[in-house]
Parts: sequence; structure tokens; C-alpha cells
Amino acid sequence: MATDPHSFAQPDRVRMTHLDLELALDFAQRQLAGHATLRLDWLAPAAAALLLDTRDLDLERVEAVTADGQVQTLAWSLGARDEKLGRALRIEAPQRPAHVRIHYRTSAHASGLQWLGPEQTADHTAPFMFSQSEAIHARSWVPLQDTPAVRFTYAAHIRAPRGLRVVMSALGEAGHALDGEFRFAQPHPVPSYLLAIAAGALAVRDTGPRSAVYAEPSVVELAAREFADTERFIASTEQLYGPYRWGRYDLLVLPPSFPFGGMENPNMTFATPTVLVGDKSLVSLVAHELAHSWSGNLVTAATWRDIWLNEGFTTYVQDRITEAVYGKALADEEALLAARDLQKKLPVIAANLQKLAPDPDGLAADDTLGVVAYHKGAWFLRTLEARYGRQLLDAWLRGYFDHFAYCSICTEDMLAYLKASLVDRHPGRMGWDEVLAWVYQPGIPADAPLPESPRFAMIDAARHDFLAGDIDAAGLDAHAWNTQEWMYFLDRLPDVAPLEKLEQLDAAWQLTGTANAEIGMRWYVHAIAGGYQAAWPAAGEHMRRIGRLYLTTPLYKALARTPAGLAYAEQVYATASSGYHPLTQAAVAAIIADVKSLPRA
Ligand SMILES: [Zn+2]
Repeated sequence: MATDPHSFAQPDRVRMTHLDLELALDFAQRQLAGHATLRLDWLAPAAAALLLDTRDLDLERVEAVTADGQVQTLAWSLGARDEKLGRALRIEAPQRPAHVRIHYRTSAHASGLQWLGPEQTADHTAPFMFSQSEAIHARSWVPLQDTPAVRFTYAAHIRAPRGLRVVMSALGEAGHALDGEFRFAQPHPVPSYLLAIAAGALAVRDTGPRSAVYAEPSVVELAAREFADTERFIASTEQLYGPYRWGRYDLLVLPPSFPFGGMENPNMTFATPTVLVGDKSLVSLVAHELAHSWSGNLVTAATWRDIWLNEGFTTYVQDRITEAVYGKALADEEALLAARDLQKKLPVIAANLQKLAPDPDGLAADDTLGVVAYHKGAWFLRTLEARYGRQLLDAWLRGYFDHFAYCSICTEDMLAYLKASLVDRHPGRMGWDEVLAWVYQPGIPADAPLPESPRFAMIDAARHDFLAGDIDAAGLDAHAWNTQEWMYFLDRLPDVAPLEKLEQLDAAWQLTGTANAEIGMRWYVHAIAGGYQAAWPAAGEHMRRIGRLYLTTPLYKALARTPAGLAYAEQVYATASSGYHPLTQAAVAAIIADVKSLPRA
């Protein structure tokens, strides 16, 4: 088995198989306090110590727990702090107990938790908290073997202030009274990065027979309408790749500071509210997170270097769900947008990180969670589809999910299965050297197939005519453009568009102040780069409101290119940072610090 360089654990010696959490939520102290009990499988005959991952945990005591509930104190020590990995917790356990219990509390600055005051929520009535464990942040709220190579079932008993609702990445009781006590069970073995918790003033609306949406009361109706197709997504995916194995599929809408689009926490996808635009145009995010119920949560990358097995396969499955529910035209538009985005970003990505499976030396855990894993990964699967046809590839993927169900695998495990069950069985369709080039070489193979989109071709022509002055902005005839078509139009404007063109576009189509954050992000980056300062206040409002990394950091980067822009970015950050997630704070601070450390030309 591949060892995970991003964990101190030694799961080949002793492995956790189940986790019991007993925690109390304390909003005043911004901490979780209680204990975690790990059921252990002692594998190596000589193993006499348990090594766990931690970051910024305040440890009280460690105990061995016998089957009849007797406890015995164990000696423990913390290793030196590693900036990226945290600290190893070494527990001396020469008796090799079946259960070890750690009493602890989390830090107010835990990297995997965000605590929001009422003023930072949609309804301003109650505090809110949520976790984001991927990549290696579970260790900041639970001491455990924090590697995707280890899977465990879990149960939890959580205490919270009365009136708040707690949810986890597990099965709970939706109808449970808000009496401050919540119980959860995850009966399927999951890796630590899928451990999740959130709490707040949450309302619930069913969206189907096995799905519901959780959100603040002012958001829940809009969210239920936006996600009304959830059951169609689940049923379409089952038809393609076999049964949904997790029971319920619920969605939690987080406050806008959530740093990601979505997080595929089992039974309870966490989602950004920035996809609630009223016309279902951005709900392929739900298709993506649902797809992870097969690729990622069921078959899991064993190390962060292999994460493209999760994200590339999921992005491909996402496109197939979108096609099944909304048609091929939209799925092709989304695939083309992603491919063009990848082609644009690839030249500034280091050669090693352009590989689907990079050389692991010196890799940080989240280095690989980028456009290459998602979009090059999906493109590889589209290439397999083009060579083998849908019928064969669909059957192969279904077999892959069955074969590796509830397993953590590395790239080479997938490749061995691919070779034996598809490539060698159907010779002449794709050379093995071609497969290896996709996986282990930088760049995109020249013959990679691209979908065609007649609507995007029309938009290319319209953009060309507009820039050439053959039509004015009002002549773009964009009334019927969907979100993806606006994104495509803006993505392919010149990096620095002429100011007068930006002014014309804004006058004709009122892009400044748009409620659609995907369009807003692209528009404000152009406005800033093109010197269209009239858009700055609305850009600043977008940056203050939205903490999602992908939608906010591009604006900081665009502003940081000029002294006046940098000053404005710092001004916005000063008022926005307290509402940002720790990950967003770190990313924005790095953008500002980077620019300041460079001599200005
Ligand atoms: Zn994903």
C-alpha cells in the first residue's frame, strides 16, 4: 500500500476502524470539547504505540477502554509542530487495547472549523458553525488517522445550544426536536476528510423521497426550488452507474463565506449559496457533489497525489448527469468552458502539477486539488469514451465502482484495472502508451477530443464582431444567453479589454451589480484589468459578501496588479477578513503579501 506523506499515522501497524464522537459545541469559546473513542485493529505484531494526526488540539488525557467499560490512563506525547502537517500524537499502548479514548478541545482558530456570529449569517438571528475537513483539516477538530487511505464508520452524540440544529456527514433524525442533543451514525466506512459537522438556525424542506435541503429559514424555499431536480439527478446516476448506496442524499446551504463550491460530505453535501441564482443554471454543482457518492466517497483516492481519481472521474460523471437531466447542449457547454479554462491556465502551472498523477516529492496536500485533477481528469475519461464508445465505457465505470467499492486506491490500482478490464480486452482502440501519457505527462495530448457547441460558436462570432466594432453592445442579442453562455463570452474577452468596450457592455447589459456571482466574478476581473473604475464599489461588495475562494481571489489578484488597486484590495480585506473562512483569509493574505514582496517595475 502507498504510504501517505501527509499523515503521521502508521495504518499498516494499527488501524482505526470506527470512531465514536462525544462533543459539545461552545459558540462563546468557539470550540468543540469532549472525547473521541477510536476502535483499533492492531495489525503488526510488534506495534505498541498509536500515532495520530492533530493540529492545534488541546489534549487533556488519553485512556484505554476495555470491552466492559473499564478505563486505564495511557501515556502520550506530542511531536514537534510541522507547519503543514500539525503535530503527531504518540500514544503508548503496549497492551494493544481495542479502544482508545482521547479527551480534548479544539482551538478557536482550528483550520477546519469556521465560527460565524449572527451578523455573518443570512438571517442574523443565530450563530453558525461548519467544518471543512478536506484536505487535511479533520485533524484540527478530531485526533485521528487523517489519511484517505484509512476508512472507518462513525457515530456521534453532539450537544448544542437549544434551538439550533446540528447536521453531520451521516444519517441523523431530520424531525428531531431542537432540544440541544443530536445523534448520528455513518454505517459505511469513510475516510477522515469526509467527516463533517455544521450547526445553525436551520430549516428543512424535502426535495424528493430521499432528499431534503437544509438552510436558514430565509433561504430554504429558494434553495428547495433551485434543487428541485435532486431526485432526477440521483435516479439518472443510478441508471448509469448502479445503486446509490448511502440512503439519504441531503444538501446543506452554507453562509456565503463557505470557501468552496461544494463539499461532498456523505449524506449531507455542503454547498455554497452562490449557486442559488433562481434559474437552476448552476445546479450542476449538485450533480458534481452527488457524483462523488460513486467517485470519491465510494471509491476513494488513497493519497492526495491521486486525488484526480476523485475529481476527474466525478467531473466526467457530473457532465453525464447534466446531460441526462438537462440535455447534451448544456453538458457540452459546461465541458467546453472547463476545457478552455484548463487550456488557459495550464501554461502557468508547474510541469509536475500538469500531470494527473504527479511525482509526490515535495507535494502539499492541496496542491493537487486544482483544474488539472478536475478538468484534465474528466477529459481523459471523455477520451476513453471517444475511443471505446459509451456502452463499453459505461459498463467499465460501473464495474470499476463495484470492484473498488468502499476501498481507497492509488492511480496504479486504477490503471491495472483499466488495462485488464478495458484496454487489453478491446485492442486497437487506445494504445497503453497513450494512457500513460495522459496520466504521467504534463500538458494535454494534441488529439484530445473537444465537444462542439453551436451556441458557443455563435457567441465567438458575436464577441468577434463586437470587439471589431461591427456591432455595438446592444447588438449582441444576449437576452436569451444562459449563465454558461455569459461565462463563455466573458472568459474569451481579451485579458485587458478596451475601456470603451467595457463601458458599452455595462450600459447595455447592467453587469455591474449582477446577482449571479459566476458572471460577476468574470465581469469584475475584466472591469479591474481594463481600468473601469466605476465597477470597483460593486466589486468590493462582491468580495466582502462572498468568501468562496474561486469567486473572490481572482478579484484580489486583478486589483493587486496596480498600486491603486492594491490599496483598494487592502481596504476591502480589512473589513471583509473577519467574515472569511481561515482558508480564504490565508489565500487573500498571501496574494497581498506576494505583491508587496515584489519590487514594482
Ligand atoms: Zn469534487
